[in-house]
Amino acid sequence: MSDLEVLLERNTQFAAQYEGGFATLPRFSSIILTCADARVDPAHFLGLNLGDAYVMRNFGARVTREVELELGIIWTMVRKIAGDEFRGFELAIIQHTNCGFERLGETELQQALSENLGLEKAELAALSNAEHDKAICRDIERLRSSSLVPKELIVSGYLYDVNDGTLREVAAPEALR
Ligand SMILES: [Zn+2]
Repeated sequence: MSDLEVLLERNTQFAAQYEGGFATLPRFSSIILTCADARVDPAHFLGLNLGDAYVMRNFGARVTREVELELGIIWTMVRKIAGDEFRGFELAIIQHTNCGFERLGETELQQALSENLGLEKAELAALSNAEHDKAICRDIERLRSSSLVPKELIVSGYLYDVNDGTLREVAAPEALR
């Protein structure tokens, strides 16, 4: 059985128990941005259940243009659907220890990626989250200066420790404006 077949079999078991009936909009007004790392799943470390919250994942848990765009779209779309009941959103940026993207700051890896993929070294250095606190604060500044992201968005930052499962607050929740 291939790895994918194992997963598809798990889905068959899941679907057999599935009851559905979830509301379109999530239960919580929290949006989670975290890493795609296999050890870092907010369904586990934040106890998220189906229907609870929007989760955005990319490698490094970095704010990219796509993240800005998606935040702008989610905000606008949900405000339209929720009408008077719209509560706004709070975003939690959650990077983690021992992240592969920490290595993007390493000269040797930058060299290889730049040769193989034609990427600029400066671009790779900017994506590195080796200094997590600084990277999170830079990303919050990026959101603040983005024309796509509503200023009412409340943003906070955390570092998740893959060794002990704890979260450390890096930036307290604060509206962009
Ligand atoms: Zn990671």
